Amino acid sequence: MAARRKRRGGLIPALLAAAVLLVFLYLGGGDLETGLNEALDALEDAGAEISLGTEAPGETELPAGPEPPAGPEPPAGPDLPEETEPPTEDEPAAPPEGTLTMTVLEVGKADCLVLQCEGESMIVDGGNEGDEDYILEHLEEMGLSGFEVLVNTHPHEAHLGSLDAVIRAYPVEQAYISPYAHTTKSYENRLTALEEEDVPTAVPEPGDSFALGGATFTVLSPDPDADYDDEINNWSIVLLAEYGDVRFLLMGDAETPVETDLLDAGLDLRADVLKVGHHGSSTSSKRAFLEAVDPDYACITCDYTEKAGAPHEEVAERLDDLDVTGLRTDLQGVLTVSTDGSTVTVTTEREAA
Ligand SMILES: [Zn+2]
Repeated sequence: MAARRKRRGGLIPALLAAAVLLVFLYLGGGDLETGLNEALDALEDAGAEISLGTEAPGETELPAGPEPPAGPEPPAGPDLPEETEPPTEDEPAAPPEGTLTMTVLEVGKADCLVLQCEGESMIVDGGNEGDEDYILEHLEEMGLSGFEVLVNTHPHEAHLGSLDAVIRAYPVEQAYISPYAHTTKSYENRLTALEEEDVPTAVPEPGDSFALGGATFTVLSPDPDADYDDEINNWSIVLLAEYGDVRFLLMGDAETPVETDLLDAGLDLRADVLKVGHHGSSTSSKRAFLEAVDPDYACITCDYTEKAGAPHEEVAERLDDLDVTGLRTDLQGVLTVSTDGSTVTVTTEREAA
């Protein structure tokens, strides 16, 4: 219908023609339905707006897909689909207006974080392969309808394993990925999913920033020219979130060389909440770095039963020494850290044993 919108002849002659045609068909015992269709076509040719119920021309619903790529600069005002479903009674309420909330899912020694601010959502990493069901269930419980931003900090299995399932299940406006290209199946799956779902994908650089609701996220690392070689953890995207006076620092799996580079760069690393680098391993979270960040809370994504045994004792001790409240997914389950821009509140799925 939309293809034939040429105006020719004008409305009045067409109306007359349609009326004459109808009368003619009626008198002549013609097929009324065909007559109607021809009359409608005549009207349409005349450029008249005909509403046949569902489709109003020019008002077609926007596809759920993302906006066209905008290069490394993130889109200014993401408009996600407006078809947010009204929450049913079973669904938990979205985080209160005027907050930045980080939900740290329990995916073992792997990462999957969801950040929400003023109606906008972002996912950072996607657990291991096999975490799909848990992650998708949780996202559904949270009542999410899509993500303005998706970040894959670095291409290790434990950070992108189930990300392809998320990308296929939810519209994503913009993806940011590490400059380090990998060769694993999980990596391929993620890239394929981003391509097939037409998600604009960029490799951000230090200093780039984007908004999520009223929060600002700034990329602190990695510098594409850094000399981290094949130390994939160090190619993690490190993000500083600022909301009002409160700051969250998300380290991915960045280790001490990155911490040192950030300190040497003279950046203001202070943060109220630290997503601890590399699951609390002693390869990260050196004392000088923790002192510079000086967090109140440290979120550790870990599974102490695994062979790697993170978090390491020395990291726990350092946090203790510095009066930082450690939060662990293996002990406390899902961690929810929320701020109104001045104070931070924490809830956990379980009490630490
Ligand atoms: Zn990791």
